[in-house]
This record gives sequence, structure tokens and C-alpha cells, in this order.
Amino acid sequence: MTSSSFPHYDLAIIGTGLAGLAAAVCAVNRGLSVVQAGNTGAIAYTSGVFDVLGAIPPTEDGDIAVVDAPFAALPRLLAAYPGHPYAVVTPEGIRAAFHEVLDFLRGAGIVYHTGDQRNFAVIGPAGTIKHSWCVPETIMGGCTAFAAKAPCVIVGVERLKGFSAAQVVANLRGVWPQLRAAQVALPEHPGGEVYTEQAARMLEVPQLCRAFAEALRPLVDGVQYLGLPAILGVHRPGDVAADLSRQLGVTVFEIPTMPPGVPGIRLKEAFEDKLPEMGVALYCQQRMDGQLPPPGEPFRLHISGQPTEVDVLADHVLLATGRFLGGGLRGDLEGVVETVFGLPVVQPETRAQWHRADYLDPRGHEIHKAGICVDAQLRPVGPAGELIHPRLHVAGSLLANQDWIRMKCGAGVAIATAASAVEAVAKACAHGDGAT
Ligand SMILES: Cc1cc2nc3c(=O)[nH]c(=O)nc-3n(C[C@H](O)[C@H](O)[C@H](O)COP(=O)(O)OP(=O)(O)OC[C@H]3O[C@@H](n4cnc5c(N)ncnc54)[C@H](O)[C@@H]3O)c2cc1C
Repeated sequence: MTSSSFPHYDLAIIGTGLAGLAAAVCAVNRGLSVVQAGNTGAIAYTSGVFDVLGAIPPTEDGDIAVVDAPFAALPRLLAAYPGHPYAVVTPEGIRAAFHEVLDFLRGAGIVYHTGDQRNFAVIGPAGTIKHSWCVPETIMGGCTAFAAKAPCVIVGVERLKGFSAAQVVANLRGVWPQLRAAQVALPEHPGGEVYTEQAARMLEVPQLCRAFAEALRPLVDGVQYLGLPAILGVHRPGDVAADLSRQLGVTVFEIPTMPPGVPGIRLKEAFEDKLPEMGVALYCQQRMDGQLPPPGEPFRLHISGQPTEVDVLADHVLLATGRFLGGGLRGDLEGVVETVFGLPVVQPETRAQWHRADYLDPRGHEIHKAGICVDAQLRPVGPAGELIHPRLHVAGSLLANQDWIRMKCGAGVAIATAASAVEAVAKACAHGDGAT
């Protein structure tokens, strides 16, 4: 086969984490032809809550500053961390990118609420409170109940690991006196351990959902809200929550469980179902590799993994391979390497500087800021700011100078940089800046 007979796309997206999947949505919306490959990214492990900015770690001694108003706090973040990827996107760009992705998810049956100027206080799996800007509809009830400190019962499910109603209540009772815990059995469960995904699929069956409502009914006396682990169906969870709420006469909401959790699985399935329908050539559980082409030539990329072995051409590439968990970075004795194109990685000078002595040091660990530096069009640059390749872009957690775990900016960086990189590709395509 000559390379001219390989399928040829405007854009190849390497990675199917949140950044890669958001990029695919934005690219299709801009009329680009897209090929994409990757394994399940961190997306299946996420809580389903999308953070923009939840905290600013100190650069010197001091405490982490919790962020209540993420957009107003961006200048403070960038003053402390000038190389953060939010430096190359605007607040309006972040909002627009979120709304584009949230519109797509709404079409797939997953509805999100955004906090306008402020973060919501979201109840976490252990009853800790986390501050996040964008929350699934099914989790929002918990934010409202917590804000009002309304009478509420948190209900655990017998033999379901990774969620304890008693623990949630023990951690919140001090600030929320009208909160109590209870436990029910999942009706018609075959026995043994209960898994969140299995429970969610069971509750999509109307008669099982009705039986579950009957089991919950004795627990709602005197409460306005009822919180459950996130098991309210995999598809159209809002309908399951609304159905239970109607049957019980209280607002039923979900609390994220320990990973992997159902809200992350919902996102993964929504993207994987809908993107091929929109025309994306999506190769799930596959790797994509390639080399930087000379000027004027397209990228030639190899997609591998059982059962596929495919070569494709693409004028532009978006690298959204994540950090260590996704496989975009690998640490070895010489240091940290970027695994697809061998791009220069911003990293501590020596391995001894990867971690601080105290694991819980509020400044975080330098290795968690390792990654790729980019220009204003999200194209990788070298140590002296030199452009590596004019048609290669990078998005998501692979980007340097952000510690999404401590800053609570994971989804924000993924979605905003993906949209911004795709916008740059779309403009280049419109100007005819392709390979030939
Ligand atoms: C446990 C956990 C909980 C989280 N909770 C939250 C939360 O509550 N809120 C929030 O905002 N964020 C959260 N995040 C963070 C958020 O999920 C990440 O910031 C975001 O997923 C980063 O997305 P990414 O696409 O850049 O990388 P990843 O999700 O790591 O995806 C990288 C992708 O690249 C693929 N890949 C790598 N190399 C190749 C290759 N050669 N070919 C093809 N594919 C390749 C991988 O298979 C994967 O699909 C959480 C993450 C984890 C792990």
C-alpha cells in the first residue's frame, strides 16, 4: 500500500481521556475530519465533577488557598504560576469550551450545571467537601441540600464497597445537624459483593427501580433530601433520579463513590457511543504512534492493538496522552520522557527533586508539574521557546506547570486547552495550512 492510499484526515487525536474526547467534539463541530485512538483514560476514574480551579497551592511556606470564585481567582493563580496552561486561554474561552462539551453531553443524556461565578460545595465519597464549578445534575441536589443544611438522609447500600453513609454523616454532622445515615439492601441482587456499575445497570430496569423506591420509602420520614452513592443508572441518570424523587416525594441525589465510579463510566460511554455517530473514526483501546514529518508532508500515524493495525495520514495532530497514568509521560533513570514523539519535557533537574520530603507538603511535588510547554496555539516548544512542529498541538494533563490534583483544575485544563488547540487547527485548515 502506498502512503497516498491511506485514509487522510484533517486532525488525528492521540488519546481518549477527557482532553482528547473534548477535542473530538470541538473538531467535529468545526467541520474537521477526525481520527482518534486511545485506551480508557483517567475519565473512568473521575468523580464526574468538572473542576475549573478549586485551590491555589503556596509557592513558599503557607497553606493552600481554597478557591470559591474560580474565574476571579485566575489572575492570582497565574501570578503564582505564570506557566500554567490557563495562561494561553481566556476566561471566556474556558466558559465557551465547557458549554460546547456540556451541550454534547446533554445530547447524550448527561446534564451538568455550572456555577456562574462561584464553585459549588460538593459532597465527596468520604463526606469531605470539595469546591467545583461544574457538577452533574444528579449530584447537584447534594450541593443544594448542603448549602441549606436541609433535613437529609444519606443511604448506603449493603455490601457495596467504597461508600459508607455512616462515614459521610460522621464527617458532616458537625456542620449539618439535620443529617442522618441509613442503609438498605439492593432488591433482587444475586448475592455477594455489590459493584457500583452493576447496581447502576440494575436501577435502569423500571421494576427494580420501583422495588428500590419501596426499600427507601421508610427512610424518608421528616427529610427533604435523600443522598445515595452514584448508582442511578448509566444512561440518562437524570431520569432515574427524577423517577425516584417523584416516587418518594423528596429530592434524590448522588454522591460520587471511590474510583472507578459510575459518573466516569457514563462519560466514557457517552463519548464512545456518540463520537462515531458524529463521524469520528474512533479506535478504542488502541495505540497511535508516529513521527514528526518534514515540512509539507502529512503525519503518518500507526494505530495498533488487537485486532487493528491501521496506518492513517493527518495534516494536524493533537497529542492528548495524559501524564504518567495515561501513558503520555514515562519516568526512567535518565528522567521523564514523552512517549510518542520524544518531545522536550519540563521536569526537575534531578530525580531527587521529584518529590519533597513531606508527602502532604501543601506546595505539592515538582514531578506533578512535569510536562510539555506550548505556545499560544498550544504547539510544543523547546527550552529556548523554539517551535517543535507547526502542525502538532498538545492539550490536557500532559501540559507542564500545572498540578491538577492540588489545584483542582483537571477537567478545566483538559477541556479548555483541547478546545483552544482545535480552534487553532480549524483556523490553520481554513487558511489552507495543511500538509500539501
Ligand atoms: C482518580 C481520579 C479522579 C479525578 N477526579 C477529578 C475530578 O473530580 N474533577 C476533575 O476536574 N478532574 C478529575 N480528575 C482529573 C481528570 O480526569 C484529568 O485531569 C483529565 O482526565 C486529564 O485528561 P487527559 O485527557 O489530559 O489525560 P488522561 O485522562 O490521562 O488520558 C490520556 C489518554 O491518552 C491515551 N494514550 C496515551 N498514550 C497513547 C498513545 N500512544 N496512543 C493512543 N492513546 C494514548 C491514554 O490511553 C488515555 O486515553 C481525576 C483523575 C483521576 C485519576
